[in-house]
Amino acid sequence: MKGNYWVTTFAVVGLFAVLGLVVVISTTDVIDPKQPSQEEKEHASDAPSATPDASQGGVVAEQAPQILLEEGDTGEAVRELQKRLTALGYELDVDGEYGMTTRWYVKDFQLQVGLSGDGQYDAETDVRLKQAQRGEWTIEPGQAIHLNVSDRTVTNPDDLLVLVNKTRSLPADYVPEELVEPDVPKYFQGGDLPYNKMREVAADALERLFAQGEQEGLQLVARSGYRSYETQVAVFNRNKEKIGEEAANKYSARPGESEHQTGLVMDVTCPAVDHELVTAFEDTKEGRWLRAHAHDFGFIIRYPKGKEGITGYQYEPWHLRYVGEEAAQAIMSQNLTLEEYLLRN
Ligand SMILES: [Zn+2]
Repeated sequence: MKGNYWVTTFAVVGLFAVLGLVVVISTTDVIDPKQPSQEEKEHASDAPSATPDASQGGVVAEQAPQILLEEGDTGEAVRELQKRLTALGYELDVDGEYGMTTRWYVKDFQLQVGLSGDGQYDAETDVRLKQAQRGEWTIEPGQAIHLNVSDRTVTNPDDLLVLVNKTRSLPADYVPEELVEPDVPKYFQGGDLPYNKMREVAADALERLFAQGEQEGLQLVARSGYRSYETQVAVFNRNKEKIGEEAANKYSARPGESEHQTGLVMDVTCPAVDHELVTAFEDTKEGRWLRAHAHDFGFIIRYPKGKEGITGYQYEPWHLRYVGEEAAQAIMSQNLTLEEYLLRN
């Protein structure tokens, strides 16, 4: 019986609410792509204020938590949700994994149907999704988050907040305008070397960052900035020959997927680690200072420790990405990645 099912469900949810636990209901019933019966719809739309009968579980909760699925969940229920999003025009893999893309698209959907957009699939979202499937809402995938993450090739390469990672690549012919050499100590000597260059806005900020560091007695050295698409092809192929494609993909970006092509990046090192790009840089006084102050100049540590699952990269304490001061402050103060920041804003 559907009616009993819902009453029981919310009684259980209420119990867990009292216990302070997050409940994830993984049942295909809840997100069955079939049109719901009238009875089911009524229960679903009542969900936020549903008060379980005390006789069912002896627990009365004012507000049951409504999260049905969220990031990190896997399984058939996620697959069903992905199928329903796909039916609305969202281009995502129906792989049963509630990853970042699914969360972004749930957020995009929520924002278009008047919900807050937290990217969690809850009872309200479920109701709206059913309405959208009946044509009661017009959905334009990607419009609300200003980002069609299913486009493998980014469409805003000049944006200071452009997201480039293992699922989003820059066009092969993208070369940033105004590449200049910042006037800072460099590892590679010589005139007109591409990897000593950055976009002007980032180069100016790097000069200010290094000047402040120098005042505080630090020896920051710029090692690797702009990297053209062609250079990435050469580097990746060299690594692939040496260690195989899978391993190469872990340590070097596939062509187009390197942030260095944006011109907004500089790998920074110091004499204490022999000017190498190594994790030990984090323990040098230069590395520690950058972690504490880079955001004041509009830079973030783009691949932080503990966020490898989100960025797709190993921790890189040396890789500075310019995003502008406002975004950098928010990202560093809230311990976010660029991916998470874009999702929230
Ligand atoms: Zn780098």
